[in-house]
Amino acid sequence: MQRDLQEILSQIKKYMELEKLSGIQEYFIREVSVEEKAGLAFLKKEVLNCARCDLYKTRTNVVFGAGNPRARLMFIGEAPGMQEDLEGMPFVGKAGQLLTKIIESMGLKRKDVYIANVLKCRPPDNRNPLPTEILTCEEYLIRQVEAVNPYIICALGKFAAQTLLKTQEPITKLRGQFYDYRGIKLIPTFHPAYLLRNPEDKKLVWKDMKKIMEILEK
Ligand code: URA
Repeated sequence: MQRDLQEILSQIKKYMELEKLSGIQEYFIREVSVEEKAGLAFLKKEVLNCARCDLYKTRTNVVFGAGNPRARLMFIGEAPGMQEDLEGMPFVGKAGQLLTKIIESMGLKRKDVYIANVLKCRPPDNRNPLPTEILTCEEYLIRQVEAVNPYIICALGKFAAQTLLKTQEPITKLRGQFYDYRGIKLIPTFHPAYLLRNPEDKKLVWKDMKKIMEILEK
């Protein structure tokens, strides 16, 4: 009897280990609440395994997003570049260093804000995102914004601004004004990579950041 019991327990243990290894527990057995499904951690797991478009074939890492999951200010860029793809973190290359400076000049730290991109995987050779890639990835961004629920979104550059605002207006026209994105204030500004090539426009971005700071301080 004792041996039978031990045998049964050992079989159960083996089965549970198998479940753990195969991920069955996470996908089928564990109950997942609605809140958890809407949460960033749940979304991240899903995005890290994404193969919805061809970019998964050439990526090194998925770049999900980073920062304070309860941030009042969220920056949204275009897509990971080479360094971001290598590290799995958004805005860590040259443009990212400039974004960090911009954030710090607002009196904030990167860990105070949330940073994400329209695309979560790097387009090969940093080419522009394709419309189909944007469409495919957009659901993730919408859920990410819903999870963070920031007070203000700052869209960095043409792709982020046009994707979020569903417009073809150029960034030169869009920047510096507040729009509504699903009930959240959204202000487009120039992309830091553009600023590296056009440093004379830094003053316009600073103007936009001051508008954000005014609203955040209210
Ligand atoms: N450019 C972007 O738009 N996003 C990054 O993460 C890096 C560079």
